[in-house]
Amino acid sequence: MPVNDIIPVPQSADCFIPQIPGVIFQFHRSHSGHMRFLYLEGGGAALEYIDREQLSQDASPLIKHLTGNDHPQIMSAIERSARWMLPLTTRFRLPFPQDKPHWIAVSANPEPTTSGVCWSGIMMDISAQVSEEQRLRKLCDTDPLTGLPNRRKLMVHLTHLASLSARHGTPLSIMMIDIDHFKQFNDQWGHLQGDSVLKELATQTQALLRCEDMVARLGGEEFMVVLPLTPLQQCHKLADRLRDAIANYDFGIGSGHVTLSIGVAEYRCGEPLVSLIERADQALYSAKDVGRDCVRLLP
Ligand code: GH3
Ligand code: MG
Ligand code: MG
Repeated sequence: MPVNDIIPVPQSADCFIPQIPGVIFQFHRSHSGHMRFLYLEGGGAALEYIDREQLSQDASPLIKHLTGNDHPQIMSAIERSARWMLPLTTRFRLPFPQDKPHWIAVSANPEPTTSGVCWSGIMMDISAQVSEEQRLRKLCDTDPLTGLPNRRKLMVHLTHLASLSARHGTPLSIMMIDIDHFKQFNDQWGHLQGDSVLKELATQTQALLRCEDMVARLGGEEFMVVLPLTPLQQCHKLADRLRDAIANYDFGIGSGHVTLSIGVAEYRCGEPLVSLIERADQALYSAKDVGRDCVRLLP
């Protein structure tokens, strides 16, 4: 170390706490459920907008006003931590004036007191990290050409819908869609025109369906639509409407150059998803076998 370097004198915490990029706190919940901050100090923008005086008396109004689902989530995280004396680790969105809510991460250790539980911990603004996570998740779940959900995202969604369908006994159907003779189409009109058909097909299909139906690109010129609360016959009708609309749609080269074969199938309560997909696939093969530009179903 150079001899004339000045070594800083240790400071008291009060001097540097306002400089740290986060908040340190002590939070108390009484046996009757009353919550308040015993200590709340730090740096960052969040504290500028918070009424610390109010929070030292009663933290419930702020917690109740957290965005969306965050209020019940944070309450159950607090409850779990208090019951099992486990660290409180969660995140929530803090409303900000004239800005989107900021994501805040909390990490705190509980300690029983005679009047309730007291947590000592830190909070950090992790908004930048959360938007990066969201960007990467979207990238993982999206087909880059059409902007549709990809196979991965579709399978997660289908698994969720199948479990709802099995639990509530509600119908669930799928369409397996394949563009007819697309290789020939590319050969005749060029690959770029083929790409533009795939993009336009995605847009047209989404426009024809309800917003709760998911259209995904499985790969190549194959798509799948998942239709919750839809029995087989209704799915068949919708598929035929889609097939007809596409056969008559002008993709910029006149209509009649792009047709679809579609296989439809309905979920059977409790069956593995591979069987459902296999039935829709077989229905699609049978649509190809009977001459394409048609819809076939397997119950
Ligand atoms: P079939 O009616 O039996 O489905 O015939 P097909 O030609 O559509 O089927 P095949 O599986 O033989 O060929 C699929 C073609 O889809 C081959 C490929 O050139 C084309 N394709 C797959 N992905 C893309 C893509 O991203 N862009 C373009 N332009 N074409 C694609
Ligand atoms: Mg194909
Ligand atoms: Mg094809």
